Amino acid sequence: MNRQGTKNIAIMGSTGSIGTQALDIVRAHPDLLQAEVLTAQNNADLLIKQALEFEPNCVAIADKSKYGYVKEALQKHDIKVYAGADALCQVVQMDTIDLVLAAIVGIAGLNSTIAAIKAGKPVALANKETLVVAGAFVTALAKEKGVNIYPVDSEHSAVFQCLAGEYGNKVEKIILTASGGPFRERDKASLASVTKADALKHPNWTMGAKITIDSATMMNKGLEIIEAGWLFALKPEQIEVVIHPQSIIHSLVQFHDGSIKAQMGMPDMRIPIQYALFYPNRIASSFPRFDFGAYPKLTFELPDTEKFRALTLAREAMKTGGTMPCVLNAANEVAVDAFLKDRISFLQIAEVVESCMMKGAQVDKPGLEDFLNCDTETRRTAERLCLQTDTRQP
Ligand code: NDP
Repeated sequence: MNRQGTKNIAIMGSTGSIGTQALDIVRAHPDLLQAEVLTAQNNADLLIKQALEFEPNCVAIADKSKYGYVKEALQKHDIKVYAGADALCQVVQMDTIDLVLAAIVGIAGLNSTIAAIKAGKPVALANKETLVVAGAFVTALAKEKGVNIYPVDSEHSAVFQCLAGEYGNKVEKIILTASGGPFRERDKASLASVTKADALKHPNWTMGAKITIDSATMMNKGLEIIEAGWLFALKPEQIEVVIHPQSIIHSLVQFHDGSIKAQMGMPDMRIPIQYALFYPNRIASSFPRFDFGAYPKLTFELPDTEKFRALTLAREAMKTGGTMPCVLNAANEVAVDAFLKDRISFLQIAEVVESCMMKGAQVDKPGLEDFLNCDTETRRTAERLCLQTDTRQP
């Protein structure tokens, strides 16, 4: 905190869906939050616009070719400008930062999150891929540095909120809710021909493209199972998934006396983001409130793991452990990107992931280097598989 009691935050990925919603919260609480660092991959125009509005200490853009453009736009302002992936790891370590919001998408968010933890900065974690890929390394490092990781994902925030005040009470299992995505009611055969536009239509949430496709395949829930395992020290069999199409109950915790606690609210990511930014305090908000009259029924069903193969693959990867979740994640990132570029079909996403898991060399007690090598190697394999199945090839 600075002298006025304002929390200085670094928003990694400020131009994304989570990043812009975090800035909505900063905008609503200028007396409590200051955006000290803002970063983007290549959306220079939005980064400049954000910098002019929020006047951070510095901005960093990962794409070095955009440096001159951003620098020129901000030259009359007292805002430092950096560029390149390494710069992201340096800006999170600045002395003035009180908390880092890790909201870069994919493994691209791993290094800056590790850098933040190394510098002893508390992390509000949206970037689930960090824990999926290198959960063992990241959680051990956070423990060693005494750094708290606050979940931002709505399901994990829900579990975290249910656990408040339960210290020492045994958790039997947690139940992660899933909307079921846009294809919940379709049969598997019909998924062969769904388009990118169909898959990008999430029924309840507006999110970045990658996580929206992950929600359609249900890989997102698979990644969340692995993320929950690391965040709450749970075994795979202690993490259940239930489809809850209304997305009002964000997740549940069942204790060893049989009691279940659930956390509810509107599907609005600003609620868990704000909780992570201000934990343990709840700050008044003007977000839309839940109306019981508008939701006469909250319904639940079990997921169809035959249709949503990705969910089964993620569970298998978690059970295998070692570098297997890293293989799962890297193959999925490549396959989703290929799907978004119309290179492979929807059902081929899980096929590419499964093939990579079958081919991937397994390292049982991996260090960071092993994770990074595994990521590079798997991406190569997945790229080859996508090329072989490229629907645009003659
Ligand atoms: P978006 O795609 O909307 O935003 C991603 C952000 O990361 C952008 O600022 C983007 O910059 C930046 N970025 C992308 N690639 C790189 C890179 N190689 N180097 C540096 N920065 C990069 O993603 P979301 O906000 O939807 O998701 C962010 C994370 O939060 C993901 O891990 C997701 O799983 C998780 N999450 C998201 C939720 C949501 O509601 N959106 C809900 C729960 C979790 P640019 O704009 O310049 O491309």
